[in-house]
Amino acid sequence: AHPTSKPDISREKSAELYEKAKAYFPGGVNSPVRAFKSVYGTPLFIQKGDGCRIWDADGNGFIDFCCSWGPLILGHNHPHVREKVTETMQNGMSFGAPTALENELAELILKHNKYIQKLRFVSSGTEAVMSAIRLARGYTKRDKILKFEGCYHGHVDSLLVKAGSGLVTFGETSSAGVPKSFADETIVVPLNDREALKLAFEEFKDQIAAVIIEPVPANNGLLLQEKEFLKYLREICTVNKALLIFDEVISGFRLGFEGASGFYQIKPDIITYGKIIGGGLPVGAYGSSAEIMSNISPEGSVYQAGTLSGNPVAMSAGIAQLSELAKPGFYEELNAKAAAFANAIQQYATEKGFKLKVFHVGSIFWFAFTDQESIRRADEIDASSMEKFKLFHRELLNRGIYIGPSGYEVGFVSSVHTKDDLEKAKLAIFESLDFVFKN
Ligand code: PLP
Repeated sequence: AHPTSKPDISREKSAELYEKAKAYFPGGVNSPVRAFKSVYGTPLFIQKGDGCRIWDADGNGFIDFCCSWGPLILGHNHPHVREKVTETMQNGMSFGAPTALENELAELILKHNKYIQKLRFVSSGTEAVMSAIRLARGYTKRDKILKFEGCYHGHVDSLLVKAGSGLVTFGETSSAGVPKSFADETIVVPLNDREALKLAFEEFKDQIAAVIIEPVPANNGLLLQEKEFLKYLREICTVNKALLIFDEVISGFRLGFEGASGFYQIKPDIITYGKIIGGGLPVGAYGSSAEIMSNISPEGSVYQAGTLSGNPVAMSAGIAQLSELAKPGFYEELNAKAAAFANAIQQYATEKGFKLKVFHVGSIFWFAFTDQESIRRADEIDASSMEKFKLFHRELLNRGIYIGPSGYEVGFVSSVHTKDDLEKAKLAIFESLDFVFKN
């Protein structure tokens, strides 16, 4: 039992639902992080979301900064998204045949994004990454993939690997069920380290099909990379004829309509997108030049398919959401609001002498309980600081603020967090920090 400065919210109904869920699902959940393993208490079962707020089964209300792990950049239940989805559903929900809606969403994406010429819709980020990797291998006729320690790319077999000991290593599987031979096709190097990259390309000359990176690594804290490193990465891939894959499942349409590619003005060879394209429904996509994409079946020999790919209901949610994002000024306003929010929290912590850094970019932020000026690699995160996060998380919930249940997860500001909501959230965050740093 940890101390708390406020009475705990009631979790009676959530606890009951969780007990039932445990009989149905491994660990009581359909995705592991939801089980609240690294924070206090039983997971909250969410009943309703509207705007920037969510309510749980016990009727507790929260200002939400998880936003379904990113896709809800317009908040919950946005009227335009809801109306468009409802309208589409009047005419049936799936055909497994082409619809005009797929063209409409693709046109919207491609018209405002100079980094890809053609794309293929899939149903999740994992699928997008898995397909992009196959495409890169098929195109280059090479097998090895290079990834970075601290980047997450979904639960693709060959990417569920962690670094061994050494600067450049074959991956060691990080999940049971992944054959060692798969992990042997993956090379793992630290982020933001040019020397390691150079060594890897020397050691595995002409073998690397692709390098995959989250250009804004946001699944293991927010490990902001130096632009010079990303530029070097682009160059070294080009020189070695390896494809550069930007996994923009988080950063795509989040930092701006052109995602991290536009933010850093770096052109990768393939980009993967995820959840945000579906406005809360299951969608992902991968895109590239017309030439590289022509290798995908039925045009080319790299097979990739999906019964529900381009599902009309999901496409509709995407069309409605991305139409809002494409409006002039959307990102300027959102990003300015989020920066002011993060900076105010940083200022408070600094004035009080708290060891806290609020790293942020665009509308993504991360609370790191540290006094390091920058954290760019996974191994620079102090694991013991997560104890403070655990206390913080509980204090926030007790004050009506919902963030992801792990200190390694980032938060998101949406376009419907008003000034007033953010003021309320800031006060709750200040009080929670006061408590955390007293204990
Ligand atoms: N790639 C990145 C960068 C992600 O953040 C995620 C999920 O959060 C994925 C891939 C996997 O996406 P999904 O959970 O939709 O399979």
